[in-house]
Amino acid sequence: MLPSLFLSHGSPMVALTQNPAHDFLAGLGATLGRPRAILVASAHWETAFPMVNAVARNRTIHDFFGFPRALFDLRYEAPGDPELAEQVADLLGAAGLQAGIDRARGLDHGAWVPLLLAYPQADVPVLQISVQSQLGPAHHFQVGRALAPLRAQGVLVIGSGSFTHDLSRFRGQPPDAPETPDVAAFAAWMDTALTEGRRCDLLTYRHKAPHAVAQHPTEEHLLPLFVAMGAAGDASRAERLHASVEYGMLRMDAYAFGAAPNPE
Ligand code: ZN
Repeated sequence: MLPSLFLSHGSPMVALTQNPAHDFLAGLGATLGRPRAILVASAHWETAFPMVNAVARNRTIHDFFGFPRALFDLRYEAPGDPELAEQVADLLGAAGLQAGIDRARGLDHGAWVPLLLAYPQADVPVLQISVQSQLGPAHHFQVGRALAPLRAQGVLVIGSGSFTHDLSRFRGQPPDAPETPDVAAFAAWMDTALTEGRRCDLLTYRHKAPHAVAQHPTEEHLLPLFVAMGAAGDASRAERLHASVEYGMLRMDAYAFGAAPNPE
């Protein structure tokens, strides 16, 4: 049974820049093996209710600006899986969640940047599911719960966001800037809650975790974590797969829920 994963996709430059997060993501595919398909809940697709894309082949969405040309030249044109998209929408509907299908959308950088490193051949079918930035952790946990049966079918469920994401501090920081204490305190609290499986604390992290609102002024980059958590079903303890920080404020941590991939 595949675990479900939370991945921090960071700056899109992680696709081109060798650093600890790049190396972690580049080794992930070999660690996990080849899934039948990959379903990514990305922070960069926000809609009023869950949407899943259903296309024969995904186009690459370069949804960022101010980065080098080489980043815009990257393509990740993995096949889609329209039949699986229908099943995803049906599972959400059966759980009482309104859901829709988007027959045009490709992959945004929250999906393709990590997958370009983890599965560079782009031959595993990939689907995206959107987040609802106003609906909070419990809703996303329910979305993940509805998707849990997919894991038994060999579908890798990934939530792609950022463990911390206060972009107001991003500009002017060198990539190797020292981590600020509030970023470290928030990440440490979250790590303890995740690895101890303290689900209630996690679902109310915004009131309980130190500096939570400062790390996530808006929630969309943490909400994919709750999709991954829900997709693990009753397994509650997470295993940390990776931890690093970029620009002193952007934590690149990754977690596995449900089952840990075998270490190398
Ligand atoms: Zn992002």
